[in-house]
Amino acid sequence: MVRVGLAMLQGARHEHAEALRAASKQLDIEIEVVELRSAGEVDGHLDCLVLPGGESTAMRKASRSESLLDALFAWMEEHPKRPVLGTCAGAILLASPGEVRAPFLRAGISRNAWGRQRESFEAEVDITLEIPAGSHIPSQIAKRDKFNHQPLPVGDGLSLEYNSTFPGVFIRAPRFDQSSIKCTPVASLGDETVGVLDGQRLALTFHPELTGDYRFHRWLLHQANLARRGM
Ligand code: GLN
Repeated sequence: MVRVGLAMLQGARHEHAEALRAASKQLDIEIEVVELRSAGEVDGHLDCLVLPGGESTAMRKASRSESLLDALFAWMEEHPKRPVLGTCAGAILLASPGEVRAPFLRAGISRNAWGRQRESFEAEVDITLEIPAGSHIPSQIAKRDKFNHQPLPVGDGLSLEYNSTFPGVFIRAPRFDQSSIKCTPVASLGDETVGVLDGQRLALTFHPELTGDYRFHRWLLHQANLARRGM
């Protein structure tokens, strides 16, 4: 059983919970999604963490009374080998956790750097990340999705996919300061890096939980499962 901590600060939390459940079925990994609302709920039994998108300033405020964010950051410092997925505002929190903590990503980030809400957009992103294909994807999923993307062929659950495209949903998205990136780029939009991996911290400036594509959630569960088993 993989225990997934989901930060219920604000923003697109429930979509992540759904995506995690779908990914767990695809991988046949049993999970428990632990909804984290207060610092006391963040403990050493969590195997991985999701920091959803939303509004990072609202998240910092929402957290102040319960000091949830601080507990999440302390957990990440204590368990550097356990994977974390930060999407959009979650990526902002990883890159700039506040004055008293060292960043969790070797990449700078700028908020709202694509412009205002009406400049939100969808675009195909190129990804370079090893992701387990999953063995429990029903064959009818091979239809094109609502973004008109053809899902990848179904694998045997152990094979890893590498190099492909992903439907990127960018909502008032931040941008990585490109010259500051010192960790591994894993997603790009043209020449621009829009996703990075630093150790076990995966930060995306877009919203995979708003698509029907659960590859990044599969990555998280797969890594958490490996970390659990000490691999
Ligand atoms: N604009 C948000 C922020 O600055 C991030 C947007 C998002 O998470 N979709 O926190």
